[in-house]
Amino acid sequence: MVSNGNDTLQSETTNECAVCGAEIETDTWHIVTAETSTDSLITIRTFCSEGCRDRWEEI
Ligand SMILES: [Zn+2]
Repeated sequence: MVSNGNDTLQSETTNECAVCGAEIETDTWHIVTAETSTDSLITIRTFCSEGCRDRWEEI
C-alpha cells in the first residue's frame, strides 16, 4: 500500500486543556502559552480558564 502522506500532516495544535483535559473550541477565546525549551522547540499549551493556567504554572 502506498501512503499518500496525509498521516504526517496532522496538526500539533492541541484543543484540550493542558491541565484538566477539557475540550476547547478553537474558534472561541482561550488561553494559550508558548514555552521555549532549551532545544528551541516551541510548545503551545492551551488552557480552558485562567485557573487552569495558574495551576499549570504551579506544577
Ligand atoms: Zn482546564
